[in-house]
Amino acid sequence: MSRLDVIGLGPGGAGLRTPEAEAALASAAMLFGYGPYLDRVPHRPGQSRHPSDNRVELARAQAALTVAAEGATVAMVTGGDPGVFAMAAAVCEAIESGPPAWRGIDLAIHPGITAMLALAARTGAPLGGDFCALSLSDNLKPWPLIERRLAAAAGAGFALALYNPVSRARPWQLGAALALLREQLPVATPVIFGRAVARPDEAIRITTLAEADPLWADMATCLLVGTAETRLVPRDSRPPLVYTPRRAAQ
Ligand code: SAH
Repeated sequence: MSRLDVIGLGPGGAGLRTPEAEAALASAAMLFGYGPYLDRVPHRPGQSRHPSDNRVELARAQAALTVAAEGATVAMVTGGDPGVFAMAAAVCEAIESGPPAWRGIDLAIHPGITAMLALAARTGAPLGGDFCALSLSDNLKPWPLIERRLAAAAGAGFALALYNPVSRARPWQLGAALALLREQLPVATPVIFGRAVARPDEAIRITTLAEADPLWADMATCLLVGTAETRLVPRDSRPPLVYTPRRAAQ
Protein backbone atom coordinates (compact mmCIF):
# COMPACT_ATOMS: atom_id res chain seq x y z
CA MET A 1 0.00 0.00 0.00
CA SER A 2 1.25 3.51 -0.78
CA ARG A 3 0.97 5.59 2.33
CA LEU A 4 2.39 8.86 3.61
CA ASP A 5 1.61 10.15 7.09
CA VAL A 6 2.66 13.74 7.75
CA ILE A 7 2.91 13.93 11.51
CA GLY A 8 2.94 16.92 13.84
CA LEU A 9 5.08 16.07 16.88
CA GLY A 10 3.92 19.03 18.95
CA PRO A 11 6.34 21.52 20.50
CA GLY A 12 8.36 19.18 22.70
CA GLY A 13 7.94 15.87 24.43
CA ALA A 14 5.31 13.19 24.10
CA GLY A 15 2.98 14.83 26.63
CA LEU A 16 1.76 17.34 24.06
CA ARG A 17 1.58 14.83 21.21
CA THR A 18 -1.75 13.44 20.06
CA PRO A 19 -2.54 9.71 20.32
CA GLU A 20 -3.24 9.81 16.57
CA ALA A 21 0.29 11.10 15.89
CA GLU A 22 1.76 8.40 18.17
CA ALA A 23 -0.16 5.66 16.35
CA ALA A 24 1.01 6.92 12.95
CA LEU A 25 4.62 7.05 14.22
CA ALA A 26 4.38 3.48 15.47
CA SER A 27 3.10 2.10 12.17
CA ALA A 28 5.68 3.75 9.86
CA ALA A 29 8.42 1.68 8.21
CA MET A 30 10.44 4.72 7.12
CA LEU A 31 10.75 8.04 8.93
CA PHE A 32 11.67 11.22 7.08
CA GLY A 33 12.23 14.68 8.53
CA TYR A 34 14.61 17.39 9.63
CA GLY A 35 17.29 15.70 11.80
CA PRO A 36 16.52 17.38 15.17
CA TYR A 37 12.81 16.52 14.82
CA LEU A 38 13.63 12.88 14.07
CA ASP A 39 15.82 12.86 17.19
CA ARG A 40 12.69 13.49 19.26
CA VAL A 41 11.09 10.24 18.08
CA PRO A 42 11.98 7.08 20.04
CA HIS A 43 13.77 4.42 17.98
CA ARG A 44 11.70 1.37 17.09
CA PRO A 45 13.13 -1.84 15.70
CA GLY A 46 12.59 -2.29 11.97
CA GLN A 47 12.09 1.43 11.33
CA SER A 48 14.58 3.25 9.09
CA ARG A 49 15.40 6.95 9.47
CA HIS A 50 16.13 9.43 6.71
CA PRO A 51 17.14 12.77 8.23
CA SER A 52 17.56 15.78 6.00
CA ASP A 53 18.67 19.37 6.29
CA ASN A 54 16.42 22.22 7.35
CA ARG A 55 15.97 24.13 4.11
CA VAL A 56 15.31 21.32 1.66
CA GLU A 57 11.58 20.84 2.28
CA LEU A 58 10.53 20.21 -1.31
CA ALA A 59 13.32 17.68 -1.94
CA ARG A 60 12.45 15.94 1.35
CA ALA A 61 8.78 15.79 0.36
CA GLN A 62 9.69 14.38 -3.07
CA ALA A 63 11.97 11.74 -1.53
CA ALA A 64 9.23 10.61 0.86
CA LEU A 65 6.58 10.54 -1.90
CA THR A 66 8.90 8.54 -4.17
CA VAL A 67 9.31 5.71 -1.67
CA ALA A 68 5.65 5.90 -0.62
CA ALA A 69 4.63 5.46 -4.27
CA GLU A 70 6.81 2.33 -4.39
CA GLY A 71 4.68 0.83 -1.61
CA ALA A 72 6.47 1.80 1.61
CA THR A 73 4.62 3.08 4.68
CA VAL A 74 6.33 6.41 5.14
CA ALA A 75 6.06 9.02 7.86
CA MET A 76 7.25 12.60 7.59
CA VAL A 77 7.67 14.26 10.98
CA THR A 78 7.52 17.97 11.74
CA GLY A 79 7.70 19.98 14.95
CA GLY A 80 4.45 21.52 16.17
CA ASP A 81 1.78 21.27 13.49
CA PRO A 82 2.61 20.18 9.93
CA GLY A 83 0.42 22.92 8.47
CA VAL A 84 2.09 25.81 10.33
CA PHE A 85 5.22 26.93 8.45
CA ALA A 86 6.09 23.28 7.95
CA MET A 87 5.97 20.23 5.70
CA ALA A 88 2.29 19.81 4.83
CA ALA A 89 2.35 22.59 2.23
CA ALA A 90 5.63 21.28 0.76
CA VAL A 91 4.05 17.82 0.39
CA CYS A 92 0.98 19.31 -1.34
CA GLU A 93 3.25 21.35 -3.61
CA ALA A 94 5.28 18.24 -4.50
CA ILE A 95 2.11 16.28 -5.28
CA GLU A 96 0.75 19.12 -7.45
CA SER A 97 3.91 19.26 -9.56
CA GLY A 98 4.86 15.56 -9.36
CA PRO A 99 3.94 12.42 -11.29
CA PRO A 100 0.20 11.58 -11.44
CA ALA A 101 0.79 8.40 -9.38
CA TRP A 102 1.54 10.54 -6.32
CA ARG A 103 -2.11 11.65 -6.23
CA GLY A 104 -3.03 8.03 -5.57
CA ILE A 105 -0.93 7.85 -2.40
CA ASP A 106 -2.93 7.47 0.79
CA LEU A 107 -1.95 10.79 2.38
CA ALA A 108 -2.88 11.56 6.00
CA ILE A 109 -1.88 14.76 7.79
CA HIS A 110 -1.92 14.46 11.57
CA PRO A 111 -2.20 17.81 13.35
CA GLY A 112 -0.03 18.80 16.28
CA ILE A 113 0.06 21.53 18.91
CA THR A 114 1.80 24.46 17.32
CA ALA A 115 4.37 26.58 19.17
CA MET A 116 2.17 29.67 19.56
CA LEU A 117 -0.59 27.70 21.27
CA ALA A 118 1.80 25.92 23.63
CA LEU A 119 3.39 29.27 24.54
CA ALA A 120 0.06 31.08 24.90
CA ALA A 121 -1.17 28.35 27.26
CA ARG A 122 1.91 28.81 29.49
CA THR A 123 1.22 32.50 30.07
CA GLY A 124 -2.57 32.96 30.21
CA ALA A 125 -4.53 33.85 27.09
CA PRO A 126 -2.47 36.36 25.07
CA LEU A 127 -4.20 35.11 21.90
CA GLY A 128 -7.63 35.31 23.56
CA GLY A 129 -9.11 37.60 20.88
CA ASP A 130 -8.42 37.69 17.14
CA PHE A 131 -4.85 36.89 16.24
CA CYS A 132 -2.55 36.35 13.33
CA ALA A 133 0.52 34.13 12.79
CA LEU A 134 3.46 35.35 10.71
CA SER A 135 6.81 33.85 9.85
CA LEU A 136 9.61 36.42 9.88
CA SER A 137 11.69 34.26 7.56
CA ASP A 138 12.40 35.95 4.25
CA ASN A 139 13.65 32.75 2.66
CA LEU A 140 10.35 32.19 0.85
CA LYS A 141 8.98 35.74 0.60
CA PRO A 142 10.50 39.20 0.28
CA TRP A 143 11.12 41.28 3.41
CA PRO A 144 8.95 44.24 2.25
CA LEU A 145 5.95 41.87 2.09
CA ILE A 146 6.64 40.76 5.69
CA GLU A 147 6.76 44.41 6.78
CA ARG A 148 3.46 45.14 5.01
CA ARG A 149 1.76 42.17 6.66
CA LEU A 150 3.14 43.03 10.11
CA ALA A 151 1.97 46.64 9.86
CA ALA A 152 -1.45 45.62 8.54
CA ALA A 153 -2.01 42.96 11.20
CA ALA A 154 -0.81 45.10 14.12
CA GLY A 155 -2.68 48.12 12.76
CA ALA A 156 -5.90 46.08 12.53
CA GLY A 157 -5.67 45.10 16.21
CA PHE A 158 -4.65 41.46 15.86
CA ALA A 159 -2.40 39.93 18.50
CA LEU A 160 0.60 38.44 16.70
CA ALA A 161 2.50 35.19 16.86
CA LEU A 162 5.92 35.54 15.25
CA TYR A 163 7.63 32.35 14.06
CA ASN A 164 11.19 32.02 12.73
CA PRO A 165 12.27 35.30 14.38
CA VAL A 166 16.02 34.87 13.70
CA SER A 167 18.58 32.49 12.31
CA ARG A 168 22.29 32.68 11.61
CA ALA A 169 21.51 33.85 8.07
CA ARG A 170 18.81 36.32 9.25
CA PRO A 171 20.30 38.32 12.14
CA TRP A 172 18.55 41.71 11.70
CA GLN A 173 14.96 40.88 10.81
CA LEU A 174 13.53 40.66 14.33
CA GLY A 175 15.02 44.06 15.26
CA ALA A 176 13.45 45.59 12.17
CA ALA A 177 10.09 43.94 12.94
CA LEU A 178 10.09 45.24 16.55
CA ALA A 179 10.99 48.76 15.35
CA LEU A 180 8.06 48.66 12.92
CA LEU A 181 5.69 47.39 15.63
CA ARG A 182 6.75 50.23 17.97
CA GLU A 183 5.35 52.63 15.37
CA GLN A 184 2.01 50.76 15.23
CA LEU A 185 1.36 49.92 18.88
CA PRO A 186 1.72 51.47 22.35
CA VAL A 187 5.26 50.72 23.59
CA ALA A 188 3.74 49.20 26.76
CA THR A 189 2.16 46.40 24.68
CA PRO A 190 3.06 43.04 26.25
CA VAL A 191 5.53 40.88 24.33
CA ILE A 192 6.32 37.27 25.24
CA PHE A 193 9.46 35.42 24.21
CA GLY A 194 9.06 31.65 24.47
CA ARG A 195 12.13 29.51 23.87
CA ALA A 196 12.00 25.72 23.55
CA VAL A 197 8.48 25.65 24.95
CA ALA A 198 7.53 22.24 26.40
CA ARG A 199 11.15 21.05 26.30
CA PRO A 200 13.51 20.67 29.27
CA ASP A 201 15.31 23.94 28.44
CA GLU A 202 12.10 25.98 28.16
CA ALA A 203 12.55 29.70 28.92
CA ILE A 204 9.74 32.25 28.88
CA ARG A 205 10.20 35.98 29.25
CA ILE A 206 7.35 38.49 29.53
CA THR A 207 8.28 42.04 28.59
CA THR A 208 6.99 45.06 26.66
CA LEU A 209 7.46 46.31 23.15
CA ALA A 210 9.66 49.11 24.53
CA GLU A 211 12.01 46.67 26.27
CA ALA A 212 11.96 43.72 23.88
CA ASP A 213 15.50 42.87 22.81
CA PRO A 214 16.04 40.84 19.62
CA LEU A 215 19.05 39.20 21.28
CA TRP A 216 16.66 37.24 23.53
CA ALA A 217 15.44 35.22 20.55
CA ASP A 218 17.02 32.34 18.71
CA MET A 219 15.79 29.79 16.19
CA ALA A 220 13.84 27.92 18.88
CA THR A 221 11.94 31.03 19.99
CA CYS A 222 8.38 32.06 19.21
CA LEU A 223 7.17 35.58 20.08
CA LEU A 224 3.69 36.69 20.99
CA VAL A 225 2.88 40.40 20.66
CA GLY A 226 -0.30 41.60 22.33
CA THR A 227 -2.68 44.34 21.28
CA ALA A 228 -3.41 47.71 22.88
CA GLU A 229 -6.02 45.80 24.96
CA THR A 230 -3.73 43.02 26.23
CA ARG A 231 -3.53 43.00 30.03
CA LEU A 232 -1.18 41.76 32.71
CA VAL A 233 -2.66 40.36 35.93
CA PRO A 234 0.03 40.43 38.65
CA ARG A 235 0.13 37.46 41.03
CA ASP A 236 2.06 36.89 44.25
CA SER A 237 5.15 34.71 43.67
CA ARG A 238 3.96 33.65 40.22
CA PRO A 239 4.52 35.22 36.83
CA PRO A 240 1.73 37.58 35.77
CA LEU A 241 -1.13 36.28 33.69
CA VAL A 242 -1.14 37.82 30.22
CA TYR A 243 -4.45 37.95 28.45
CA THR A 244 -6.16 39.62 25.55
CA PRO A 245 -9.83 40.16 26.36
CA ARG A 246 -12.42 38.38 24.24
CA ARG A 247 -14.25 41.67 23.72
CA ALA A 248 -12.87 44.44 21.53
CA ALA A 249 -14.19 48.01 21.52
CA GLN A 250 -14.29 49.11 17.90
N1 SAH B 1 5.49 23.63 12.53
C1 SAH B 1 6.05 24.34 13.67
C2 SAH B 1 6.72 25.64 13.25
C3 SAH B 1 7.92 25.45 12.36
S1 SAH B 1 8.74 26.96 11.98
C4 SAH B 1 4.95 24.58 14.70
O1 SAH B 1 3.77 24.38 14.38
O2 SAH B 1 5.26 24.96 15.83
C5 SAH B 1 10.02 26.97 13.23
C6 SAH B 1 9.71 28.02 14.28
O3 SAH B 1 8.69 27.54 15.13
C7 SAH B 1 10.85 28.37 15.22
O4 SAH B 1 11.74 29.33 14.65
C8 SAH B 1 10.10 28.96 16.39
O5 SAH B 1 9.66 30.26 16.07
C9 SAH B 1 8.85 28.07 16.43
N2 SAH B 1 8.93 26.94 17.38
C10 SAH B 1 8.86 25.64 17.08
N3 SAH B 1 8.90 24.89 18.21
C11 SAH B 1 8.99 25.75 19.24
C12 SAH B 1 9.06 25.60 20.67
N4 SAH B 1 9.02 24.40 21.27
N5 SAH B 1 9.14 26.72 21.41
C13 SAH B 1 9.15 27.94 20.85
N6 SAH B 1 9.09 28.15 19.51
C14 SAH B 1 9.02 27.07 18.73
